[in-house]
Amino acid sequence: MSKSPLTTLKGIGPALAKKLEKLNLYWVDDLLFLLPIRYEDRTQLVKIGALEAGGRCLVSGEVLLAETVFRGRRNLLVRLSDGSGQLTLRFFHFSRAQQAQFQPGVHITCFGEVRRGKSGFEIIHPEYRVLRADQDAATDESLTPIYPATEGVQQGRLRSLTDQALLQLHAAPPPELLPASITEKLGMPSLADAIKYLHRPPPDADVEQMLAGTHPCQQRLAFEELLAHYLSLRNLRALAATEDAVALTDGNEDVSGFVAELPFRLTAAQERVVADILADVAQPHPMMRLIQGDVGSGKTVVAAIACIKAIACGVQAAIMAPTEILAEQHWHSFGDWFRPLGIESAWLSGSQRAVARRESLESIASGRAQLVVGTHALFQEGVDFKKLGLVVIDEQHRFGVHQRMALRDKGVSADGHPHQLVMTATPIPRTLAMAAYADLDTSVIDELPPGRQPVSTVAVPQARRDEVVERVRSACASGQQAYWVCPLIEESEVLGYQAAEASFQMLTEALPELRIGLVHGRMRPLEKERGMQAFKEGLIQLLVATTVIEVGVDVPNASLMIIENAERMGLSQLHQLRGRVGRGAAQSHCVLLYKAPLGRIAKERLAVLRDTNDGFVVAQRDLELRGPGELLGTRQTGLPEYRIADLVRDAELMPQVQIAAENLRKKSAQQAAAIVQRWLGDANRYGKV
Ligand code: ADP
Ligand code: MG
Repeated sequence: MSKSPLTTLKGIGPALAKKLEKLNLYWVDDLLFLLPIRYEDRTQLVKIGALEAGGRCLVSGEVLLAETVFRGRRNLLVRLSDGSGQLTLRFFHFSRAQQAQFQPGVHITCFGEVRRGKSGFEIIHPEYRVLRADQDAATDESLTPIYPATEGVQQGRLRSLTDQALLQLHAAPPPELLPASITEKLGMPSLADAIKYLHRPPPDADVEQMLAGTHPCQQRLAFEELLAHYLSLRNLRALAATEDAVALTDGNEDVSGFVAELPFRLTAAQERVVADILADVAQPHPMMRLIQGDVGSGKTVVAAIACIKAIACGVQAAIMAPTEILAEQHWHSFGDWFRPLGIESAWLSGSQRAVARRESLESIASGRAQLVVGTHALFQEGVDFKKLGLVVIDEQHRFGVHQRMALRDKGVSADGHPHQLVMTATPIPRTLAMAAYADLDTSVIDELPPGRQPVSTVAVPQARRDEVVERVRSACASGQQAYWVCPLIEESEVLGYQAAEASFQMLTEALPELRIGLVHGRMRPLEKERGMQAFKEGLIQLLVATTVIEVGVDVPNASLMIIENAERMGLSQLHQLRGRVGRGAAQSHCVLLYKAPLGRIAKERLAVLRDTNDGFVVAQRDLELRGPGELLGTRQTGLPEYRIADLVRDAELMPQVQIAAENLRKKSAQQAAAIVQRWLGDANRYGKV
């Protein structure tokens, strides 16, 4: 497709071009892929007598009367008739000139949402046009597209720009990149036809289908977009197969020695996954493997085994976790496991003091540190590994592809790329996994360690908080430990920790006999660590915390969790939190405290948790309720958002996408590359073809 800058179009100067960048529009062709978010029907006039409340309609009529009335503030009311009935137009903001336009007898057309007012139907602030005496009310030829809005760019402007882009498309249609075998099999229109149709749908278009995003023209584009993303990730995987890595073949005794010393036996699922990993790393190409396993399935020890293997083979291993708390936890558990074996480790985090950081960097660069544990600080400037052979990324759903790539590129040396192991506790439905992790091989830990009991979950309104406090009292009296979690308040970290401190105060007063600790994101790492450690050792019975404990924290004696304002949290997050209990032999409980009344979605969320402990079911429901961006954490992480495809709505396209992709890769690599380029363009940083 041609790449002419937007400024070549009529009516675009540098200032407007800047605004359009906010909509990700840089080239004329980008306009073609800026699809309307909805459509309005101005193809026919609706008789006033036939209006229904809630519809958005085009109406034409004669002004009977215009008057200003005072209803708290001034309203301009214009009474309109077309012979079939009367309609009121209501303006709250209006100029004197506007007021003067509405002379009795004048004809106007207007468009807007029809509502039921005190005296019949009315439209508030309609778009309107005063007709000249010789003029008929004009209707549009096609449905009116409504484009995604951005500040300072009017719909009319976007329509005129897309008009121009469509003209260019007409003169030089974009090449059809999908093989006819696919478009024919799936009965899809050509790319050019689909684009034209969606921008300027004919009057008889099936609007409902288009609004649902299931029109064949939309599916045509969604298919190609999904294909582009999939191909790009597959390229990455293919690339790995051609890259060098240190084959980790030694150290089998170290591994079996480590496993033999563990206080438990690996589950069959863990053994299977360990076997997958060991087979991968023995190859002279980088492993790219995803481990999926529900909360508490024992991913950490699997990662530890991989690290033992790497270190025994003389390379460095690095573990990256999404939060300081989780990284610290790994720092402790790995320390406990590895110190007796004489393995040297280093710690790296964003909040580290300069001296400590320098020391860590030095031992990482010299190779003295065999294991490095940290947060995303691991892949920042200035971190140089001597010989990084294995990268483990925990709780992958918090990181995006780009961060994954950055750490991988970091380890590139004369010996090649490091092996990569990513772990996630967010089990996602198969079709979604296909789309999101096409660059990775996948293993699943589909079994929990023996003796785990499902956590029994109840939802309780805040009004019954006293009962819940009593419950904490009796649980702790009988020797158990409990978490009291306050939600992270998204708009404000400060509010979040204030909420936690308030709860801490309340609980300290209500339960004077208990040893209560407080941990929140605002504390210094050392304080946090002390709090966590005291809880782990049982010195603290009740831990009040913000959601900093969301992932990975492991205290088996804790068997009760209270989650405040549970209605504000997402399903997967609640499931993760709840996974902190149910790790020991005792029956565990989770109490979801909520503020009544609950909205529909919040009610459903809490019901899902009450009904199931199965992470896959939770993930599927979460996907349906929230959409894939939230579930995969792409909002935070910058995985490219899809422009047209919707991973939930279009999930059933994925198997076909996969087949098409494998065919294209085999038969016409050039076309495959062109598809990736078209959809991912410069954003295709991770798909070096
Ligand atoms: P997650 O998969 O959520 O990261 P962890 O790795 O934190 O889970 O493991 C949860 C708990 O289960 C830890 O206390 C861990 O020591 C324990 N564990 C792991 N594997 C087993 C096993 N095979 N048998 C018994 N306990 C295990
Ligand atoms: Mg974990």
